[in-house]
Amino acid sequence: LSQLFRPLDLLGMVYRTVRQGVIDMGAMFDLIDTPADVTDVPDAKPLTIAKGHVRLEDVRFAYDEREILKGITLDVAPGSTVAVVGPSGAGKSTLARLLFRFYDVTGGRITMDGQDIAQVTQQSLRSAIGIVPQDTVLFNDTIGYNIAYGKAGATKEDIHAAARGAAIADFIERLPDGYDTRVGERGLKLSGGEKQRVAIARTLLKDPPILILDEATSALDSRTEAEIQATLERIERGRTTIVIAHRLSTIVHADQIVVLDSGRIAERGTHAELLRRRGLYAEMWTRQQAEREEKMAAQ
Ligand code: ATP
Repeated sequence: LSQLFRPLDLLGMVYRTVRQGVIDMGAMFDLIDTPADVTDVPDAKPLTIAKGHVRLEDVRFAYDEREILKGITLDVAPGSTVAVVGPSGAGKSTLARLLFRFYDVTGGRITMDGQDIAQVTQQSLRSAIGIVPQDTVLFNDTIGYNIAYGKAGATKEDIHAAARGAAIADFIERLPDGYDTRVGERGLKLSGGEKQRVAIARTLLKDPPILILDEATSALDSRTEAEIQATLERIERGRTTIVIAHRLSTIVHADQIVVLDSGRIAERGTHAELLRRRGLYAEMWTRQQAEREEKMAAQ
């Protein structure tokens, strides 16, 4: 039966790639899909990151009248990984947008190494943070250019090293034009996993102390997912990381898991602690495990 569905899968993949794959500039990150309306304060200083200690203190946020985040307090220790999970619409992406100061908080504050992010220059804040978005938007240019975008003045060696780190170098080197292969709307279409690797390579070049990973909602095939996961775990090392996760299986090893529900932190702890609580997280875990088993049985 699975044979029968394969051509359909392929068609679906091509369709998705065409539909989501290539948008010019504009919507660079899925995470930051609306224009920013924040400005630097008159005497804004550059953010200086020594350790990468991120703190949210009673953070509140509303896009309009409706409050989306209702008092979030969170301490992300330097170099640690915090995963944010929760039902759709809980406010996970909103939280990530606030960290990048794409919007200003409406209450409380966010600090990085003790500095309120509303008081520092946006340019310095954004250069300290790397984002691996759900759907990477590629420029209509070469694959080399698309990677180099992570760092102004990147050399060929830098680009190749980043591609190796993101486990995409072999793929690129097998292309007839290698790093000069044109990608995007008018060039080679990359799969979801390949695009995500380009985003990882960009981030490796940027080498930021703070990382925001927005996990793709659409599942990659399990082998690609495992490979991407291994690469992500490598780049997380030594950086303060905030992961917006949809699949709980990818964040089992996070130092801290935060369950957001209707704009509040409903539960927090490690995977094992949260399972023992038998609350919302345990319920989500059981449901996702059952879905996985069902999927595997159907294959
Ligand atoms: P998902 O898992 O589905 O991505 P999420 O937890 O990331 O959901 P958010 O994207 O943060 O949720 O959205 C939280 C709430 O804020 C939702 O009710 C959403 O409709 C609303 N929202 C998101 N973006 C905007 C916006 N730009 N303007 C107004 N409301 C918004």
